Amino acid sequence: MQKYDLVVIGSGPGGEKAAVKAAYFGYRVAIIEKENKFGGVSVNRGTLPSKSLKETAQFLSGKYEKGVFGVDRKLDRAATIEDFMFRKNAVVGSEAKAVFNNLVLHKVDIYQGSAALLDQHTVEISGENPQTIYSNHIIIATGSYPFHPENIPFDGKRIHDSDSILSISRLPRSICIVGAGVIGCEYATIFSNMGIKVYLVNRAPEIMPFIDQEVAKALVKQMEADSIELLFNDAVTQITPPQNEEETIQIKLESGRHCAVDMFLYAAGRCGNIKGLGCEKLGIKLTKRQTIEVDADYRTSVPNIYAVGDVIGFPSLASTSMDQGRVAVTHMFNTPDFDQIANVFPYGIYTIPEVSMVGKTEEEAKKEGLNYCVGRARYSDLPRGKIMGVKDGFMKIIFSKEDQVILGIHLIGPIATEVIHYGMSIIEAKKTISDVISTVFNYPTLHELYKYACYDGLGNLTQHKIKQ
Ligand SMILES: Cc1cc2nc3c(=O)[nH]c(=O)nc-3n(C[C@H](O)[C@H](O)[C@H](O)COP(=O)(O)OP(=O)(O)OC[C@H]3O[C@@H](n4cnc5c(N)ncnc54)[C@H](O)[C@@H]3O)c2cc1C
Repeated sequence: MQKYDLVVIGSGPGGEKAAVKAAYFGYRVAIIEKENKFGGVSVNRGTLPSKSLKETAQFLSGKYEKGVFGVDRKLDRAATIEDFMFRKNAVVGSEAKAVFNNLVLHKVDIYQGSAALLDQHTVEISGENPQTIYSNHIIIATGSYPFHPENIPFDGKRIHDSDSILSISRLPRSICIVGAGVIGCEYATIFSNMGIKVYLVNRAPEIMPFIDQEVAKALVKQMEADSIELLFNDAVTQITPPQNEEETIQIKLESGRHCAVDMFLYAAGRCGNIKGLGCEKLGIKLTKRQTIEVDADYRTSVPNIYAVGDVIGFPSLASTSMDQGRVAVTHMFNTPDFDQIANVFPYGIYTIPEVSMVGKTEEEAKKEGLNYCVGRARYSDLPRGKIMGVKDGFMKIIFSKEDQVILGIHLIGPIATEVIHYGMSIIEAKKTISDVISTVFNYPTLHELYKYACYDGLGNLTQHKIKQ
């Protein structure tokens, strides 16, 4: 039987980064992946494919170039499903190979097949080449899969989850999406920018309750301007699948409303991938949501077995999963690098327009009873915003009235997910609005949003405002 210092189950961002780090530090490492493509949901069914489709929809729609350069760019009506999928397929194919090559480069032994734990050191691999391997340490990085409620007759052709939507063979004429969380909102804006009629059904009265609600409302406004019909306080009660290609899908909603659409996407909720792993047999503690319980070092209730990424639940992001994998390896082998993931991390939502945030929302500041003040700056007021022709979008900062320390930064607009990163160092270093005002930025850039949001905040604080 092959013996290892570490066996990693799953080659998503959590598993890949853990495996290559342990191998880099000289440990004998194996990784087991049940799919024939490496990189997990992040590369194959989630993060990168949806971000590539967003970039494609933005490009084909001419969203940010319309009329800006004196050329009349409008939605390319002749765009085919092949055009829509071209970039996605290129990115996914290249990145899945890159993950595989990274593992090979680091001399990680690769096993293809489904892994199950026989005991706390032995892993059984089933598949074309069944075998059993031994390891001192194990990391479970098996990720998550889309939740399927019983009343949705998924068929992978016209009634989809976030996996099968990536394999559509034609563009929908209209689509009903359930769930106004990150995934639902991202796909709603992708399809609407492709000129497709979108209905977005959500149980709650708002979208993404964890983001600043002023930003959420601005996104809702832009979604409505892009003809997305938002059906709040509602839920699907019944779906009648079509009998043939020409028929529409009949959807009944709790409110009594009725929708007839060409395609349907359920994008509300995911479950931890623990089925068949044998966690229960080993006494690995699980939660009610099918996730694995871990301590601050990512150790499960069985001391030599760790778990990272979506399979442990919140925040369920590729960005954090990678560092959880690296940190688990630190604790396992006492490697001389970082031993906890940063407690300041950004959220990036790749809607059109993008939304990104770091730190507290205004709602959180209110709830905590903080004495705070707000400053805002618009993309369209900045020279760089004007050059780009951005009509909407803004930054909002929240800072303490007492010491002017910045507590939260929120952005909606083009490349918000890039611009936010300077905001992380502001929050981490507890910078004040004067620190930011006295910073020199490249000119003209979108980073000037920081400076002018701070000037605006200062004006609000001192009640000395020139501009409204
Ligand atoms: C539509 C969508 C958009 C997203 N967008 C973003 C985004 O913009 N930014 C972001 O940071 N995150 C995003 N995410 C979340 C991100 O994809 C996940 O948080 C991330 O992939 C989790 O990584 P992981 O390593 O935990 O698991 P996964 O990426 O899920 O990988 C798990 C791997 O384990 C394998 N596996 C499972 N069970 C076994 C077994 N028994 N034996 C062997 N192999 C097994 C699976 O085949 C898979 O390859 C998005 C997710 C979705 C669905």
